[in-house]
Amino acid sequence: MEDVVKTLEDRPETTEHPFMIAPERPSPAPRPMTRPSQQEAEAAVRTLLRWAGDDPEREGLRDTPRRVAKAYREFFAGYTESPEDILSRVFEEVENYNDLVLVRDIPFSSHCEHHMVPFVGKAHVAYYPNGGVVGLSKLARLVDVFARRLQTQESMTAQIADAIATHLNPRGVAVMVEAEHMCMSMRGVMKHGSSTVTMRFSGVFENNAAQQAHFFTLLRGAR
Ligand SMILES: [Zn+2]
Repeated sequence: MEDVVKTLEDRPETTEHPFMIAPERPSPAPRPMTRPSQQEAEAAVRTLLRWAGDDPEREGLRDTPRRVAKAYREFFAGYTESPEDILSRVFEEVENYNDLVLVRDIPFSSHCEHHMVPFVGKAHVAYYPNGGVVGLSKLARLVDVFARRLQTQESMTAQIADAIATHLNPRGVAVMVEAEHMCMSMRGVMKHGSSTVTMRFSGVFENNAAQQAHFFTLLRGAR
């Protein structure tokens, strides 16, 4: 049977990337904490507005703390979602499909855990099914669960791959993430347009150059 390749949207032109290998052990799941109240969150935003040098009481900023608190719920919704729930429903009617499934160009936005500013990019996720496949949109939702947390790109890459390995029990998983980090383009070294690539291979992809080449070929193939 033929490989399945799905493209969620057109890829932008890419230039040369620095390559990074996702770490063997992704950071552990965050500890459960008591959430501050809405009022406390808004007060913290007012403090940051003053820290930036502005007046939280001026008209244009009066509703900003409320809006920021609301936006944070959305940016970081991944803390309240579970990869297991998303991957729990497997389509067994395609049980006899054993070849590679690749979903490429899954767009995401996340926030770097060092500066709390966005990094934005695309994830490419491939696996060899073992007794059923998940709906393609589930893989996109899985990416979002991890993207909507404070992250490093390396950890996020490993967490996506590990969740698939754990919950789908595939013969192998390959995940590649390409992203531009606003903390690099808006501050510090001010490098616009450079992107970082991270990847993680497990199962039959691990230490297997032919399998990895197959993944890259499909990834870069006809669109
Ligand atoms: Zn950063």
